[in-house]
Order: sequence, then structure tokens, then C-alpha cells
Amino acid sequence: MFNTLEDYRGIIGDDVIAGIHAKARRLLGRRVLHVNSTYQGGGVAELLASLVPLTNDAGVDADWRILLGTYDFFDVTKRFHNALQGGTVELDERALEFYEETNRAFAGWAQLDRDVVIVHDPQPLPLIRYFKKRQPWVWRCHIDLSDPDPRLWHYLKGFILRYDVMLVSHPDYLHEDLPVPQRIVHPAIDPLAAKNIALDDEELARILARENIPLDKPLMTQVSRFDPWKDPLGVVEVFKKVREEVDCRLVLCGSMASDDPEGFVIYEQVAQSARELIDSGDVIVIAKDSPSLFINALQRVSSVILQKSTREGFGLTVAEAMWKGKPVVASHVGGIPLQITHGKTGFLVDPRDLDDVARVVIELLRDPELRDTIGAQAREAVREKFLITRLLSDYLDVLNDVL
Ligand code: UDP
Repeated sequence: MFNTLEDYRGIIGDDVIAGIHAKARRLLGRRVLHVNSTYQGGGVAELLASLVPLTNDAGVDADWRILLGTYDFFDVTKRFHNALQGGTVELDERALEFYEETNRAFAGWAQLDRDVVIVHDPQPLPLIRYFKKRQPWVWRCHIDLSDPDPRLWHYLKGFILRYDVMLVSHPDYLHEDLPVPQRIVHPAIDPLAAKNIALDDEELARILARENIPLDKPLMTQVSRFDPWKDPLGVVEVFKKVREEVDCRLVLCGSMASDDPEGFVIYEQVAQSARELIDSGDVIVIAKDSPSLFINALQRVSSVILQKSTREGFGLTVAEAMWKGKPVVASHVGGIPLQITHGKTGFLVDPRDLDDVARVVIELLRDPELRDTIGAQAREAVREKFLITRLLSDYLDVLNDVL
């Protein structure tokens, strides 16, 4: 069952709802298509699952198509992802051909004849080359673009130049060398989605018992794909330091996104580095597509949430935990500082300074009052800036601009 805008009145107030309808007025009946490359397992899928039905409810026809790719295709695009985030990449001709060919093949049987096409991330970026362009195209990049590999950026720019506007999550991701209009749009969470909806104690206990999560010790948790940029290995190292001072458990929960073939490799490394702790039950590693209600419950029962990323386009998991009134200890990278005010709505740390990360976690585990104060402030910060209704409103602004 989908939510309607009315359902959000109690959370964000009538003014916001009226504002959305006002912005949708000029767009009523126009047709918008979002294209990405996975239906689950990452922030983009999470966003679209809420944004698309709510856009429809506002009277603008929205639809969502998924670019189909093989393992080899996603192997190439994950290498792109890594190189855009500051890593390096071998740009061999075969990989580029494969990237373009997958997009060309998809264009051979997909119909994208809407009033606006919004393409998410690099996987479907080249589609624009294989359609007769009859409408505005928007490229929404969710990745940290502050320091991309120059050769890859030059190559991808060839496609981006065809777009009407590029949307990014942070001012640092804007590019002066790109002669295309650029705007900032922050991601947001859906407070009424299964991932974030309120759960009572009975539901919490039932959901967690089903997944065998013991609640006898405080939990520190990181919910993230098994991705080098999320640094799950670093989280294990922090945990080893924390448990020297406070008896607690670590939960590392990561799904395997179908467009991220690196997951299995990183998971293996984590399992290796925490083998004894996993055997003793002090570290729980969950590597599967968990139901949203489980992620929700896990975030709610955790004492501290970690997000120890070394790069992070935005980091929806941070807002998700903050909305649940949880203290988040997260790296001062990418989109995370947009969400957390250090010492007020969470804690920003240097992800390389394991001692400091551990120190902050220990302080929080020892001080329930501090956890409650930070958590309450965190929830209000998300209500103000990072709820899905604000994102819908931002997208309507973009549509009003390009149409
Ligand atoms: N997520 C999930 N199950 C997992 C791990 C992550 O449902 O095991 C969700 C998480 O709750 C969040 C999204 O995937 O909604 C991750 O978004 P984020 O922006 O944090 O990172 P991304 O994966 O897009 O880099």
C-alpha cells in the first residue's frame, strides 16, 4: 500500500503539503520517468520507492524503469563509481564498449517517451546518446564527485554535456569545468516507509527474535553495503577497541546490491578479520537482503549507530538513524556533515583516527542521557531538512525549471 501526501500532515504540517500542491499545479498530468539500475540494496532505490508514488499522488505522472545489466556491466560501473570517488581506474576500451553497448541494447527495446527523463548515477548515463532527444533530460548523480579520476570524468562528461541539468548532493560536487546547469538536491528519508515507521516494543522484539539478534548487551551497528568506502573492516577495528572498555556487540548489516559486485569480496574480508568475534557472537554480520522492517528495528534497538565511511555521497543511513532518535558517530566526509552538527545532533569523526572514533562510541555507550539528548536533537534536524516531502518539493522545482 502506498502512502499519500495527506498521511504526512501530522509529521510536517499542512503548509508543506499545500506548498507541494502549489508547485505541482503547473505540472499536472506531465509525465516523468526515473531510470536507475537496481530496485533494491542502495540509497537510490530506497529514494525512488517513496518519491515515485508520492509524485503520482501530487498529480504528476511518475514512472520508474530499471536498466538491466549483467555482472560484467556492473563490474565496469562499480569501477567507475570507485574512480569517481577518488580511486583510480583502468579505462580499457573493452570496458567502455561494454558500458555503452549495454545502454544501447536497453535503448533498443525501452520506450522513454515522457515529458522529462531523470537518469540516476553513471550506469544509465549514456542512454541519452541512444534516444532521439525530444524532452529535457536530468542527470542525478548520487556519488561524491569532489575528486573524480580526471580521465574518467572527461569520458563521462561526453554524455553529461547532452543533459539539461545535473543534480548533485553537495556544493563540493559541482564542477566549474562542466558547461551544464548544476543544482544541489539533498536526498531524504520517508518517515512512513517500512524502513522508518514507528515500531512498538512488541513488534521490535518479534522482528529481532526472528533474526536472532540478542539484546542482552548494548549494540553498536553499521548498516551499509559491503563496500570499501563504507570501511566495514575499520568498523571491526573500532569495535575491538570499544569492547576493551565496554561490553557490547557489533552488528554489521549489509545487503548485496545487484549493481555492486564488490560486496562478496569485502564481506569475505570482514568475515576473515572478525572470525573469532563472530564465532563468540560478539560480532554479528548480516549479509543478505534484509526486510526494511528488520533494518528499522535494528537501528531502533542499537545504542550507537556508526557510519565510518571514507567517502559518502550523502549517506541515507545517517538520516534514517537520526530520525529514530539515535546518536550517530559518522565520518566527516561527503554528505554526512550536511546532516550532523557535531556535538548537537551526532558526532563527526576522522575515519582514520580509530582511537578517537572508539573514544566517542565509548562515551556514548556510558552515558544514556547524552544518547537521549543527541538523539532527540537529531530527530528534529531530520524533520526540518531531510524528509521525503522536502525532496519531492525540490524535484518539483527542478521540473518546473526544465519544462
Ligand atoms: N540498506 C538496506 N539493507 C542493508 C544495507 C543498507 O536496506 O543491509 C539500505 C539503507 O537502509 C539505506 C540504503 O540501503 O536506505 C543505503 O543508502 P546510503 O545512502 O546510506 O548508501 P548507498 O548504498 O546508496 O551508498
